Amino acid sequence: MKISVDEDKCIGAGQCVLTAPHTFDQRDSDGVVILLSAEPAAPEQAAARTAAAVCPAAAITVVAG
Ligand code: SF4
Repeated sequence: MKISVDEDKCIGAGQCVLTAPHTFDQRDSDGVVILLSAEPAAPEQAAARTAAAVCPAAAITVVAG
């Protein structure tokens, strides 16, 4: 599984951080997403998928594999 984020789309809603705090963080200055792990470990993958689904800006892309 690989994850990418589009900082230009991100509106800093923070849903990803609440859902998958080991995979995502937010910049202190403006709340834009920080990708902590582009290839999350197995225990984190379900949460990362959920984060992509709940992101209101569709800024998170998950590629299976
Ligand atoms: S949920 Fe989406 S819009 Fe909100 S901080 Fe994460 S990537 Fe950005």
